[in-house]
Amino acid sequence: MQNRSQTGLTAIGPIGAEQYRTLMRQAVDLAADWLHDGTMYDGITIDTLRQQITHIDMLPLDGVGDEQALQEAAQYFLKHALQVHHPLCSAHLHCPTTLSSQLAEVLINIANQSMDSWDQSPSASLFEQHIITALRHVIGYPTGDAGVFTSGGTQSNFMGLLIAREYCLKHCPEYTKNDLVVVCSSQAHFSVQQSMLLLGFNESATVTVECDHGGRILVDKLAQTLNDLKTKSKRAFAIVATAGTTDTGAIDDMNAIAQLAQQHQVWLHVDAAWGGVLLFSDKYRHRIEGIEYADSITLDFHKQFLQTISCGAFVLKESNNYTLISRHDDYLNPIEDEEEGLVNLVAKSIQTTRRFDALKLWMSLRSIGTKKYAQMVDYSIDLAKKVADHLDSSPFFERVNETQIASVLFRIHPSQLKDRDSTKIHRFIAQLLFDQGRANLGVTRRDGHVTLKMTLLNPHTTFDDVKQLLDNIEYLVNKM
Ligand SMILES: *Cc1c(COP(=O)(O)O)cnc(C)c1O
Repeated sequence: MQNRSQTGLTAIGPIGAEQYRTLMRQAVDLAADWLHDGTMYDGITIDTLRQQITHIDMLPLDGVGDEQALQEAAQYFLKHALQVHHPLCSAHLHCPTTLSSQLAEVLINIANQSMDSWDQSPSASLFEQHIITALRHVIGYPTGDAGVFTSGGTQSNFMGLLIAREYCLKHCPEYTKNDLVVVCSSQAHFSVQQSMLLLGFNESATVTVECDHGGRILVDKLAQTLNDLKTKSKRAFAIVATAGTTDTGAIDDMNAIAQLAQQHQVWLHVDAAWGGVLLFSDKYRHRIEGIEYADSITLDFHKQFLQTISCGAFVLKESNNYTLISRHDDYLNPIEDEEEGLVNLVAKSIQTTRRFDALKLWMSLRSIGTKKYAQMVDYSIDLAKKVADHLDSSPFFERVNETQIASVLFRIHPSQLKDRDSTKIHRFIAQLLFDQGRANLGVTRRDGHVTLKMTLLNPHTTFDDVKQLLDNIEYLVNKM
């Protein structure tokens, strides 16, 4: 019989274990070297990189073997990858990751459990349920385990709207699907609109409500919108509130919105993809007060919870609403399993085969503890505030948003641009800093004007790091 370790499927069975160890060590060494190097981006041009990558034969007749494939991946991918752990890699809600989540990935990968049925993930299913129960506790939801890990905020928002629609169709039979709309703010994440399209609604079924200057939904306008819908014989099947908008980190007034939702008997979904991290803050938890009134909640752990991608959750307040979407199949999750107390999480998810991403958050919470998590969150918010104050005191810059979480939007003050094209200058600076590997700044638009953005998720980023960057921008612009 052929030695199984020579088949290329290296990690199979006891024979593969030694080879697994050897190769994993090599992979870890390459990863550690890359981390140690720390360059944010090596500045290679897209043309050179494309040439290198397209040069590699993707359909070799004979494979090159694991070691060589690993070396190639390091040389062509890792070497030119964006270093998310760099203190100024701050363009997006794209986080550095906890060591515990990286460690968890090793176990997740080798075990390769699938979360759909008990017989594919026995211990893992219970781990996931247990952590959902803990999250519900932190939210202030009734005890239980209604909720599931997802690929992220997009999927969680979709699930919220899917269940809300089914709920409405069941409980308000006088309305048909054509009468239904969803109401959210103009700053809501685009996945709300996208989910509506996936649910078979057209564009006009997403009704957006104006925001104040800070990016929070105007509650009186929301009230008016809900009243107006009635006169048009339309029915809102859900209100989506945002706890931390993607661009400016604005947090809607959830207490006030919950009251309106109650009054109009409308499902409230809270998109807390970003702001959900405040559940673990000491100083700023009050900013998301009212989240517990939501019928469903989106949480995203591959943002400020510092987990490796993918890692998110959907949490449903009343578990019996899960029956609106759950299905059973004889070959996967037969009714009898449930009667015998087995856990088949497929009934709670819109995915079938699914990763055990919950282990990452599980290990991070166990390892770091809620106290230190709170310190990390508070640190980032305090840092953002300090940066905002610094921008206010500088004649060179203009602060654009009021910082509510860790996002700081700013521009070069128009008086410093000396009639030069603002859009071009801001874009040029961001690109230059990226190519030099100094910083990754977001480029966005507020009130019609191009704006730079820092999303300060990294708890190791210091005020000095940011100040040096701002000084550098000032120097570059003055030199131009
Ligand atoms: C990031 C984000 C999402 C989407 O989450 P993904 O994990 O990228 O799918 C949804 N809503 C808000 C407010 C977000 O910031």
